[in-house]
Amino acid sequence: MSEFTIFENALIVTCDESHKTIENGAMIIRGREIFWVGPAEELPQEQRSAAKIIDAGGKILMPGLINTHAHCGDTLFRGLVEDLPLEQWLQTIWKAEAEVLGDAEICRLGVELGFAELLSGGVTSVMDNFWHPDQTFLAAQDAGIRLATGGIFFDFDGMDGNGPENRQKDAAELFDRFGENDEMFVGTMPHGTYTVGPENLRGAINLANERGGFFSIHAAETKVEQATIQERYQTSVIRHLSALGGLSQNTVLAHCVHVDDEELDLMAKTGTHVAHNPLSNLKLASGFAPIMEMQKRGINVTLGTDGAVSGNDMDMWLAMRLAATIHKAATENPSAVTAGEALHMATLNGAKALGAESYLGSLEVGKRADFILLNHSGAHASPMFNPINHLVYSATKGDVNDVFVSGRQLVKDKQLLTLDLSDICTKARALQPRIMAALKENPKEVRA
Ligand SMILES: [Zn+2]
Repeated sequence: MSEFTIFENALIVTCDESHKTIENGAMIIRGREIFWVGPAEELPQEQRSAAKIIDAGGKILMPGLINTHAHCGDTLFRGLVEDLPLEQWLQTIWKAEAEVLGDAEICRLGVELGFAELLSGGVTSVMDNFWHPDQTFLAAQDAGIRLATGGIFFDFDGMDGNGPENRQKDAAELFDRFGENDEMFVGTMPHGTYTVGPENLRGAINLANERGGFFSIHAAETKVEQATIQERYQTSVIRHLSALGGLSQNTVLAHCVHVDDEELDLMAKTGTHVAHNPLSNLKLASGFAPIMEMQKRGINVTLGTDGAVSGNDMDMWLAMRLAATIHKAATENPSAVTAGEALHMATLNGAKALGAESYLGSLEVGKRADFILLNHSGAHASPMFNPINHLVYSATKGDVNDVFVSGRQLVKDKQLLTLDLSDICTKARALQPRIMAALKENPKEVRA
């Protein structure tokens, strides 16, 4: 095999800080890194003569998307229950989860189903939060997707059949087992401030700090959550986390819908990152995150899909489009969240949240070769005056043709190369009767 691979005849969207695009571009990769990227006419000839050459057919070549908040295993419960108030909805979902998720193999099946969906849709990195995270790491190593996950913390017995007394030890073990793999990110992932008390939260924060990992938690998602923390600790969610030492440049807070100015200042001052999940916030009626206020303060805003029970699909193209539209309506400002800003949320900003902007998030020399090829020959892409506007306002996950992570091809002509999609789907469907039977114990809680 040749040392170099050259992609020619590509419309390159680099997603670098300056949003550079190259109309007739080429990119050379060597091993897992980008060796050269630029206009076709400047392509270095010494590499060309010895390289494997791939004609991109005029497709858009851009960085893979980075999803900073997902629960891949929840794909097993997609569409199970809808249109209920949050608390009632959660009770039903948790009942279904409790039926099957004690089984580590079933958890792995769920994350594989999620990975299949993410990779097909052009996502090359995902921060995932789910039971049996060791299984998620193993599945990611096999599938080739770049994963950030870590030990779950929960003050009650979890869906995995594990209790709170083991969480700290289990989380530490993940650093031992997977911390050396420089294609992965290990952190700690307490569920939320209302499900994890101060002592266990401090444990999770300290472990992440000691081991140089990230710390990620659901924060300030709903008004009910803020009221609970106010009643329990006479403070707000973000202030509570701040007092525990949980805000830092290694922290990724999912949601941050209900936050006041002082809390935003605290987040900005500490370099805390936000994972914005617009579809989940819309569907669960959580509200509108104050994204413009975050941007004004220089807070790094990234994008997530949340799980498939709160958004039904894990579509980062939809997340981008919603991020670039709902805040315009919410603030009555058509300039709120531009296309370029939304695209950065799903690429370079995600890399920053992972502490990996030096090697992920854009197509630049020396960075890892995490990239995708996108068709833009359809009716919804013709004409295309500006590729960045197209990517955010009209491209869809169905346009994704090829996906590479660290130079390894994982999707070729829309076919997954590392996951057996038909086998995964068959097994997921086979679980349906068992899940439905578990819910029938209390049919009032289910509304199809
Ligand atoms: Zn979530």
